[in-house]
Amino acid sequence: MVLATSLLTTACGSKENNSDDKFDYSVEKFADLQILRYKVPSFEELSLKEKELIYYLSEAALEGRDILFDQNGKYNLRIRRMLEAIYCNYAGDKNKEEYKQLETYLKRVWFANGIHHHYGCEKFIPGFTPEYLKEVLLTIDPSLLPVADGQSVEEFYAEISPAIFDSSYMAKRVNQADGEDVVVTSACNYYDNVTQAEVEEFYGKLKNPNDKTPVSYGLNSRLVKEDGVIAEKVWKVGGLYSPALEKVVYWLRKAEGVAENDNQKAVINKLIEYYETGDLKTFDEYAIYWLKDTDSRIDFVNGFTESYGDPLGMKASWESLVNFKDMEATRRTEMISDNAQWFEDNSPVDNQFKKDEVKGVTAKVITAAILAGDLYPATAIGINLPNANWIRADHGSKSVTIGNITDAYNKASHGNGFGAEFMFSDVERQLADNYGDITGDLHTDLHECLGHGSGKLLPGVDPDALKAYGSTIEEARADLFGLYYMADPKLVELGLLPNMDAYKAEYYNFLMNGLMTQLVRIEPGNNIEESHMRNRQLIARWVLEKGASDAVVELVNKDGKTYVLVNDYQKVRNLFGELLSEIQRIKSTGDFEAARTLVESYAVKVDPTLHAEVLERYKKLNLAPYKGFVNPVYEAVLDDNGNITDVLVTYNEGYAEQMLRYSKDYSTLPSINN
Ligand code: ZN
Repeated sequence: MVLATSLLTTACGSKENNSDDKFDYSVEKFADLQILRYKVPSFEELSLKEKELIYYLSEAALEGRDILFDQNGKYNLRIRRMLEAIYCNYAGDKNKEEYKQLETYLKRVWFANGIHHHYGCEKFIPGFTPEYLKEVLLTIDPSLLPVADGQSVEEFYAEISPAIFDSSYMAKRVNQADGEDVVVTSACNYYDNVTQAEVEEFYGKLKNPNDKTPVSYGLNSRLVKEDGVIAEKVWKVGGLYSPALEKVVYWLRKAEGVAENDNQKAVINKLIEYYETGDLKTFDEYAIYWLKDTDSRIDFVNGFTESYGDPLGMKASWESLVNFKDMEATRRTEMISDNAQWFEDNSPVDNQFKKDEVKGVTAKVITAAILAGDLYPATAIGINLPNANWIRADHGSKSVTIGNITDAYNKASHGNGFGAEFMFSDVERQLADNYGDITGDLHTDLHECLGHGSGKLLPGVDPDALKAYGSTIEEARADLFGLYYMADPKLVELGLLPNMDAYKAEYYNFLMNGLMTQLVRIEPGNNIEESHMRNRQLIARWVLEKGASDAVVELVNKDGKTYVLVNDYQKVRNLFGELLSEIQRIKSTGDFEAARTLVESYAVKVDPTLHAEVLERYKKLNLAPYKGFVNPVYEAVLDDNGNITDVLVTYNEGYAEQMLRYSKDYSTLPSINN
C-alpha cells in the first residue's frame, strides 16, 4: 500500500509542482501546427556517467536528421537549404506578406522533414508566388545556395520550382490508393526508376516461405534500376547516407565507452556492426539484444525503424529517441502487469476466450531526453518494438509510453478553451480538471499492458481472419478492456485512482471524442480511415445506440450546439463490458462478417451535419490540430583535459533557432546525389 500511495502522489502531484507554472510549454503556432517544449524531469539527479551516456546518444540521434529529409523526397534537402539561405541572408523587405508566407513555408518544411504534410502526406503549397521566390533567390549570393555544379540560379530555380508549386507533381509522399502503382505515384525517395510490379518481383524472389526467422527484406536500402539492372543501394557506412552514419557511429562508440553494463555495451556494439555492414541478420541480432536489455536505466532507439513512409511498408525511415526510465510511473505499470491474471479472470468476456495464463506486458514509462529523425518534431507518445513478427513471437517486445511528452501535451492543453466549447457543463469540466490527466494516462497503460495481451484465439483460427477490419477490432478490444476496468473498484484498491468518481472523466472524454471532437481531424466529405479513430467512433456510436432506450448517453442540443450528455456512468460501463465480450468473440472465432458489420455500421461514416458543426466550432478556438516539440539543449561542461565534468540541460531555445542550429551543426549529407 505504501507503493500505491506514492504512486498517487506522483500522478496527481505533478499539477501541484509550483516550478511547473513558470515553465512555458507553448513555443509558437503556424499553419495547422503548434510547437511545444517538454521538460526532462530528474535529469539533474542522474549520475555523471549517465548524463554523459545520454549526451553521446543524443549527438548520435541528431546526426541522422538529414537522412530523413532525403528519404522523404529527393528535393527536400535542397529546398530546405535554399529556404534557410534566404531566411538567413535576404536583405529585402521582411515585413512583406509574401516574405512572411515564405517563413511559414520554411517552418512547415522543417516540421514535416520535407515538402509533404507529416500526417496527411499531401504536398502543401506555399502562400507566395513562383515569381516572388525567383525574385528573392536572385538577390542571394549563389555560393550560399544548394545549386548543382555549373548550374545557374535560374536553372536551379527551374529545376526546383515544380516540386514546390505544382500540386500535381510529387503530389503525395505516400500514395496508397487502391489500383494505382503506389511505387511510381509516391514521392518518397525509397525507390528510383522501378515500378510496383518490379519491386514486388524483386523482393518476392528473396523471400523463402519456409524461413522461420526471415530478415526484414528491403528495410535499409533504396531500390533502383540503373542500366536496366535492379539493385539495392544499402544505407550503411560506405554506402548510401555514409557521411551521416559515420557520425552516428562516432557518437555511438563514445556511448559504448560509458555504457551502464555489459548488456547495454553489447547492444551498442551490435548496432555499430549493423551500421558498418548493413547486414539485416545483424540488425535482428541487435533487436534481440536490445529487447533483452531491460535492466539499464537509459535506453534508446537509433536506426531505420518504422515503415509507414513506404507505400509497400518495407523500407524504414530513420529515427532516434534517447530516454531513461521514469521510476515512479513505471511502478504504476508494473502494478497493473503484476495483477494481469486478476484482470483477465474477472473480465466480462466468455470464459472460453480467456487466457488461462496471462503475462502482462511491462510497459515502462520513460522520460524522453531527445527526439530525432521521424520522431521530431512530431512524435509518438508510446512505442512498441521491434517490428519483426518472428522476433515478437519468439522473444516478445518492449513497450514504452513517454511520460514527459504526454505531460507536456496535457499541460499545454489546459485552459485552451476546448473543454469550455465542447463539454456539456461545469460538472464535466470539473471532472476533466481534477482527473483528466491521470485517467488518460491510466487508460493508455491498461490498453497497452493488458488490453492487447488479453484473450486468446480458438484453436485453428487464422490470426488474419478479420483482414482489413483486424486492426480496428484489435484497437477496440484493447480500448474496451481498459475502459471496462477504469470503473472497477480494483483500481481504487490498488491506489491507481483516488476515488470512484475519477473514471467518469475518462468515460466522458472518450465518448465526446468518439462521437464528436475527433472529427476535427477529418476533412469535410471524407470517411474515417485510421484504425484508432475508427475504433473510438465504433465504441462511442455503439454505446449511444444500445443505450438509447434508457437514455444512457445522449447527444443533446443546447443553444444551437450539440453536446454529449452522459446520464448513467455505471450503465455506460455495462455497455462497454457487453461490447468487449462481443468484440473478443469476433476476434477469438475470426468472425469476419460480424467484424465487417460492426465496423461498417458504426466506425466509418461521418454525420455531415454534425461534422460541419464541430469543424466550425473548432475553427473559432483557433487551435492547431497537430503538435510537435523543440528539444532541450544539452551542453557538455569540459575540464582542461577535455573530459566531461557535467552535462547541463536548458529549455529556452526557439523553434527556428533550433532548426537552424541543427542544420548548421548536424549537416551531414550533400544536397544532391544521395
Ligand atoms: Zn493499441
